[in-house]
Amino acid sequence: MTLSEHRDGEVSEDRDGEVEIERIPPVVTPSSIDFWTAGAAGELRIARCQRCALFIHPPAPYCPACRSGDVNTEPVSGEGTVYSFAIERYTWIAGFPAPYVVAEIELVEQESLRLHSNIVGCRPESVFIGMEVKVCFARDGEIYFPLFQPANT
Ligand SMILES: [Zn+2]
Repeated sequence: MTLSEHRDGEVSEDRDGEVEIERIPPVVTPSSIDFWTAGAAGELRIARCQRCALFIHPPAPYCPACRSGDVNTEPVSGEGTVYSFAIERYTWIAGFPAPYVVAEIELVEQESLRLHSNIVGCRPESVFIGMEVKVCFARDGEIYFPLFQPANT
């Protein structure tokens, strides 16, 4: 399946085995394609400035700290903590049933390196700020959505 075919919408398969969820496909750019596809290798890849070593998320072609255009993606551990979260109890999107957790995850590699995702593999009510989590992926064609699950699972 190509990325353009993917954008037409397909049913996702979650690896957590809980429910089949239809996720909204991302807008993939040259800066973000590695982020969205690296799950095929089981990796979470984050953009990193090759001049000053700053991790950058969301992916961008230039470093916000030193303005270098020498930015590449690098694999990170996939480990982090829940910085903030909300339990969504209303089904806003058909095929994406509530309840689910929308969370801001701070990755261990760098202070304030955060990304938004879902917490899966546990009951929504068991999620808390500071909870240690690790990445897992939900595949939809060539896209691998980085999700997070409790680190102790
Ligand atoms: Zn930099």
